[in-house]
Amino acid sequence: MIVEQIWTGNAYRNFNYLIVCPETGDALAVDPLDFRKCLDAARRNGWTIRKILNTHEHGDHTGGNKAMVEATGARVYAHANAAGHIPHMDQGVTAGDIIRVGNTVELECLDTPGHTMRHICLLSHTDQPALFSGDTLFNAGAGNCHNGGHPNELFETFENQLEKLNEDTLIYPGHDYLINNLRFTLDREPDNDTARKMIADYERQDPDDALVTTLAVERRINTFFRLQSPSVIARLLDDFPDIGDAPSPRTVFLKLRELRNSW
Ligand SMILES: [Zn+2]
Ligand SMILES: [Zn+2]
Repeated sequence: MIVEQIWTGNAYRNFNYLIVCPETGDALAVDPLDFRKCLDAARRNGWTIRKILNTHEHGDHTGGNKAMVEATGARVYAHANAAGHIPHMDQGVTAGDIIRVGNTVELECLDTPGHTMRHICLLSHTDQPALFSGDTLFNAGAGNCHNGGHPNELFETFENQLEKLNEDTLIYPGHDYLINNLRFTLDREPDNDTARKMIADYERQDPDDALVTTLAVERRINTFFRLQSPSVIARLLDDFPDIGDAPSPRTVFLKLRELRNSW
């Protein structure tokens, strides 16, 4: 499997992706908002875009569908409940469905509600797995729930699905929010030296050649995976004394999500 991460350079800092079968050159485009950059990358490399997957229904993920379908005739996949909410959608998918690309690539659909209630993440069946996490999981962060989502469901997606992935799973999110999210981590956990070092190392990174983390790395830098960290809990008690000194992971997650909304 070849993964081409495409930096849009837009104000929302979207990442688009091409997932390619190295044998056939067939490609699936994930959220190809910047259809020109996606088409250029395919043309340059001799790849053929046959499929599109929208992780969810927001316009900064689906806005390239029309032009992409017109240019390639690709088939558009998205969450089954997104029918009627996504332009040019052809096929609904649910948890456990497999999307094939060429001869070699199998992508498993995970039903991951929270950011919206119609959100799909793709998990590759490869020696080293890769997760295309849309707006559910970001580097060092979690999606917001302002536009059709629910924090409680987002917690359950983290707890029941993301937490259970292999430690070496590569994380390919829908936006580049790394540095801002690391600052939130440090705000919540001032003694997180890994996050502090990562800001220094990547503050000036070229998003065209962005750091790709793994789940193991996220567990160290992403507050939303650090629900039992004594310093996260101690700091949270300053803002929410009523949670007590042994709050449940759900309570910690929901309070962190609430703080992040106005941070
Ligand atoms: Zn979104
Ligand atoms: Zn987005």
